[in-house]
Amino acid sequence: MKFGYSPRCLEHDTGPRHPETPDRLRAIREGLKRKHGVEYVDPDAATVDAVATVHERDYIEEVREFCADGGGDWDPDTTAVEESWDAMLKSAGSAQWAATSALDGEQGRNTPFSLGRPPGHHAVYDDAMGFCFVNNVGVAAQTAIDERDVDRVAIVDWDVHHGNGTQDIFYDREDVFFASLHEDGLYPGTGEVEETGEGAGDGTTLNVPLPAGADTSDYAAVFERAVEPAVERFDPGLLLVSAGFDAHRHDPISRMRLSTEGYAVLTDRLRGLCERVDAPIAFILEGGYGLDVLADGVAMVHETFDGRDPIEPDDEVSADVADLLDEVRAAHDLD
Ligand SMILES: [Zn+2]
Repeated sequence: MKFGYSPRCLEHDTGPRHPETPDRLRAIREGLKRKHGVEYVDPDAATVDAVATVHERDYIEEVREFCADGGGDWDPDTTAVEESWDAMLKSAGSAQWAATSALDGEQGRNTPFSLGRPPGHHAVYDDAMGFCFVNNVGVAAQTAIDERDVDRVAIVDWDVHHGNGTQDIFYDREDVFFASLHEDGLYPGTGEVEETGEGAGDGTTLNVPLPAGADTSDYAAVFERAVEPAVERFDPGLLLVSAGFDAHRHDPISRMRLSTEGYAVLTDRLRGLCERVDAPIAFILEGGYGLDVLADGVAMVHETFDGRDPIEPDDEVSADVADLLDEVRAAHDLD
């Protein structure tokens, strides 16, 4: 894979006790050192105009001034320093690079993965939250629509938290499909099955609030029975993955049970989906707070594109996830 990475993203200093640290990117890069076929690209920073395609201008100016004044705590979770402004624009620019290079380039071994931070999927139209200031995947999706010949973009968010910011930005849009799998009851508490979009975007938001303890078999079943048929019906010209790695069984802040191999299974499923709808795919880093399993998860995505076959899970889907899937399929007329 080709990885978008800028040292500027290390300068977003969140302090000594924050889980979203520069060490996350260092751990990922260390894990990729031993891998075959890894290339890095230092992407251009996003412009304020590009960020303003998905965020309110006044909010962006507020964030710029907040950082210029030295930063601090935006809220109890979400913190910035002066250098964070440049890191945010690099993180968003890296996501734009991932989307445009997926559309312009060869897939397979050149599939792009943006390793930016701060992450983005909690950032809503006019506010920062949950460690996120700029919705990187949102900027990337809008860039694909505005600057390339793409009519529809699908975003699949497998981070363990609901991608409420991405949902907020595209909730009434018919040209961006958003699917999120997340742990029910975890931050920020949104992402119910009934949240399916509104107005022109009715039906273009798909939420799967999974019970704690869901494992690779459960995730694979949700992909096969809900996410994939819904994305196929939507027929996007680009698939973006909000790739967090905090649903891993060893992540410190969730209770999900995805294995490292599970990320290969999900990656392979999305790759197959993209072949069926003839759309390129790009990955954009979100969360993931166990440094070792974060590094292993990213490496697993890379290895899947480098030719490694995943080991399919052999367990049955659990009864409560099967029931949840019936609800999701009914909410989206997939039966
Ligand atoms: Zn997360």
